Amino acid sequence: MARPAGKSNNVDAAHFVVAIDGPSGAGKSTIARLLAERLGIDYVDTGAMYRAVALASLRGTPLDSQMEGIDVDLDGSRVLLNGEDVSGLIRTAEVTKEASRISQFPEVRARLVALQREMGARKSVVMDGRDIGSNVFPDARYKFYLTATPEERARRRTKEMREKGMDADYAAVLADIEKRDWDDSHRAVNPLVKTADAVEIVTDGLGIDEVLARVLEIIK
Ligand code: C5P
Repeated sequence: MARPAGKSNNVDAAHFVVAIDGPSGAGKSTIARLLAERLGIDYVDTGAMYRAVALASLRGTPLDSQMEGIDVDLDGSRVLLNGEDVSGLIRTAEVTKEASRISQFPEVRARLVALQREMGARKSVVMDGRDIGSNVFPDARYKFYLTATPEERARRRTKEMREKGMDADYAAVLADIEKRDWDDSHRAVNPLVKTADAVEIVTDGLGIDEVLARVLEIIK
């Protein structure tokens, strides 16, 4: 029998959820992936799930109230859309923009949140996103809010894009980050918020190892 979502984390000592929320580009997915590896549990990238729905929408699948015709699943680091591995297709600028748009739709959120709760009810997970500690698993045993100034996030993103041989204009990247911050924190359904019980880590000037060490220190 499925456990009631969000309510199981303090009962069974062996089963727990680590929620990592924060704005775009704060390093959540890098930290979440490494943390899951260190803890020997699964990593659930909820942003990838919104991205897969965005790809389906761009391909013309209607986002109706039941989200029929859209089946999203995660298999390790692979993202599956109706069984197709779309991991390599969901990181484009076009999908990023569409994900930001469709993540505002209540029917999309309801469907993906239900899936995320099922994933965390079955097994221990590190789950990152925007509304994990506030909405998906309000009783998560550990909650982190990872953030950095928009300027720091834009600098990192510009560097990352240039390293991949892409054109990147710092001012344009910064404007994009500021817009996504606004959209994430002002949407009507499940906006990005830092809950009072989340441990905030401001990652400006911190390396990945330092952030991971702080998170592990709190968990252990
Ligand atoms: O984190 P990432 O950039 O991959 O997220 C893609 C999109 O999905 C973003 O626009 C973000 O607002 C949205 N999202 C969300 N809720 C989550 C995770 C991501 O609305 N839990």
